[in-house]
Amino acid sequence: MNQNNNLIQIFEYFSDNQRCIDLLVRLRWSEGIMCTFCKHNKVYNLTGKNKRYKCAKCLKQFSVIKGTIFENSPITLQKWFVAIYLMLCDKKGISSTQLSRNITVTQPTAWFMLQRIRFMLRSRITKVKLKGLIQIDETFVGGKNRNRPFHKKVKYNKGRSFKDKTPVLGMLDENGNIKTIVIPNTRAEVLKPLVYKTIETNSIIVTDEWKAYKGLDKDYTHFVVDHGRSQYVNDQGFTTNPLEGAWSHLKRMIIGVYHKVSRKYLQRYCDEFAFRFNTRLLTDSERFKLALSHVECRLRHQDLTRDSLQFR
Ligand SMILES: [Zn+2]
Repeated sequence: MNQNNNLIQIFEYFSDNQRCIDLLVRLRWSEGIMCTFCKHNKVYNLTGKNKRYKCAKCLKQFSVIKGTIFENSPITLQKWFVAIYLMLCDKKGISSTQLSRNITVTQPTAWFMLQRIRFMLRSRITKVKLKGLIQIDETFVGGKNRNRPFHKKVKYNKGRSFKDKTPVLGMLDENGNIKTIVIPNTRAEVLKPLVYKTIETNSIIVTDEWKAYKGLDKDYTHFVVDHGRSQYVNDQGFTTNPLEGAWSHLKRMIIGVYHKVSRKYLQRYCDEFAFRFNTRLLTDSERFKLALSHVECRLRHQDLTRDSLQFR
């Protein structure tokens, strides 16, 4: 794959099954093929068209898709790779109806594939460490109140009430890496433990004046931007504007492509958004390869249909 591939080149490139397998072997086992059962690094190549291996220690056989999101899937690797590419190269992602037309699978299959891919992206997201100066802010994702029928309108939904929408906590570091966590509400007992869990103490943090952040200055150098007073850059020059910008990307993705996302699955869409946001300076093929190098995780069906909320 080159730096700039158009769609036709992508379809052509992935049209060869062996090429897909070889690429997956390279990306999954960049430091050499390893037994998927016992992690032993001496394996034998078995002959046959689907490239299988046999472990020299435990003698078990495996293929490159063992223990990946592709395992037990009737969909060919070619279709999987095109799906991943299409999802990652468009800034806003791809809907399951669009994907089902592009690679000729049913819409429920396309939906399931996209959920598995999001699960793979999440394993990358969890490895990212936030460093340096970090902005913290929450946003609310959900349908617009004014578009609802009268009896479904939620009263007093201005500001930080979350009756109508799902709150998401975001943390953005000075290198442009973001973490997004779906939360049940924006109270201190929810926000503070997540801040402590995600950001090393003694870091510099910037928030707005929301009262739930009060007291973080005990463990962090804490700067406040007073949005209530229409302040967007405080007297010391700190701001949360870049994080506000990231929120508008997230909302455009959800409104523009996915129309509406249930609270149950919102964390997965936030993971997809965060992966794309954090890799925005990479080329499409670099982003694709980075995603595939985290393929070693399998989403079981019960995990998929279970509540994806990270916060429990
Ligand atoms: Zn083994």
